[in-house]
Parts: sequence; C-alpha cells; structure tokens
Amino acid sequence: MSGHYRGAVLEDFTDAAVARLVAADRAGFWRTSEHAPDELVDRLADRVAGSPPVEPWRHRPRADLDAARVELLLGADTDRSLARLGQLARSSGAVRQMCGARGVWVPADGPARRRYLPQARTIVTARTADPRLEAFVDPGAVFGDPRGLGCALPLSVPLLVSDALLPAAVRGGGHAFVMSLCSECDADEDVRAGYGWASGMFDEERVESCPGYPPDGSPEPPRLRLAPAGERRWDDVGRLGGRPAWSQASPQWPDCCGRPMWFVGQLQTGEFGGVGGAIFGFRCECGHAAQSRQLT
Ligand SMILES: [Zn+2]
Ligand SMILES: [Zn+2]
Repeated sequence: MSGHYRGAVLEDFTDAAVARLVAADRAGFWRTSEHAPDELVDRLADRVAGSPPVEPWRHRPRADLDAARVELLLGADTDRSLARLGQLARSSGAVRQMCGARGVWVPADGPARRRYLPQARTIVTARTADPRLEAFVDPGAVFGDPRGLGCALPLSVPLLVSDALLPAAVRGGGHAFVMSLCSECDADEDVRAGYGWASGMFDEERVESCPGYPPDGSPEPPRLRLAPAGERRWDDVGRLGGRPAWSQASPQWPDCCGRPMWFVGQLQTGEFGGVGGAIFGFRCECGHAAQSRQLT
C-alpha cells in the first residue's frame, strides 16, 4: 500500500469508480489519491460539495460513497486538498468529524491543517545510535510514579524522542513512548484505549490489579537511528511523522484542547521486548501526551 496517486483509477470519482476502490481495499483505499494534482482535487471537492455525506465514514457492508469521497480528499494530503477541506468542513459536521479522525484540524477560517509532519521517517536499528532517539530511558525520569496504572511493575520507556525531532508546536521535554513488560498483565496494561499524561502524571487514577511480574530477561536496549526520508526497510522498528499506519478502517485520533493532537510516530512493541503490535504517540501544544495501541 504505497498510496501514491494512481491516475486513471480514480476517473471522475463517480459512484462506480469509488465503489471499486473501496471494494479493492477497504482500509487503505483513501490513500490511493495521495498527492493527486490540483485539478483532480478540485473535481473531487466539487463532487463532495454537490453531495456531502450525511454521516462520517464508517466500516459498513454497503459503503457510503459520499463519505468515501471525503476520505479520498483527506487522502490527497496536498495544500489544495487542505484548502478545499477547510471550506467543506465549515458547512458539514460530518466532513469536520472525518477531518478530525484523520488528524486534520479545521480552524475557524483558512485552510484545514495537518496535525502530523507530512514526511514520515523510518526508525531502524544501527551500529551507532542517534542521540535524539534514546532507547529505554529511566521511566522515573518521565513519570512521577512510573508504575503501571494497573500493575506494580514500573513501566518501560522504549523510546524517548528528543525535541529536535518533534513538530515545532509540541516541543518541550521530548516525547516518551510507554509500554509494560510485565509478563502477566502486559496486554491489560497496554490495551487501554488511550493513555494520557502531562507533567509526569497520568490522567487516570491507579487501580492496581497486578502485583507485577518482571519479564524473563531484560531486552538489550537497541541502538536507533533514522533512515532517510520515506525509505522502507526490512528492519523498521517504528516511524516518526506521516500518518499512523492503522490497520483498522475506522481509527480514533485523540483530541485535546478542542483539536486533533499532533501525531508523533509509532513503534513496533515486539521489537522492544513487548507483545506484538504497535503503539501510537500523540502530543498537544498544552503539554499533554497520549498513546493508543493496536495488537497484531
Ligand atoms: Zn502486571
Ligand atoms: Zn491540549
């Protein structure tokens, strides 16, 4: 799923053409329009304006093609598509909600804005570590109480991303990715829909249900560096920027302060001694951090 615009496939965004795209790839169809040229974005946006969706896009047996066209407009991810989405979202609540679910913020006027860096960068293991990507830092340096919310074992911070690699709007103290290595409750601890924390304190109260079982061995901290922009490699352990590679068709993008949070990046937890899956890190200008998780 490279997602780059494949000209003729989209035709004129007729119901028949869009239905074929959705049928071919329910979770990833929306990115087939990535970087589409302006005149195509305009034709798509005109169609959305002429037949706006009644409800936001949802995974259903029978696809809502009006909503699917908005998804394609979000997938285009160009300056022109953001300008058109700004206009459309201000007259359609459904379009606005769909923007939020894809990390696109609709301000009171002007173009819609990305809450992610457009260029994704791949994190790989390396002989020499990039000091901006610190693996397994002391959780006590990040959290006042580093224990899990439901587990006595201290959490692990598989990666602390330094400010230099974060979107400019959310710098300050770096961004920590958080996971549990408890051999008993790792799933329970990690499966929570959204971790949220600010100033080293979790939003939720601790309710300890697991005494904490250390893992059999402690993982060797990997040495990490960034691969050149856009490069995909067999040894990827995560990604910074771009949009989350969610496998589900109806993702939830966390909000804070009335806008979608900034997406920081994602890590493959299996590469850091955790159970298989990925964690997705988000941050807000107010200092709040959040994380969601997807098991594989
Ligand atoms: Zn536990
Ligand atoms: Zn906030």
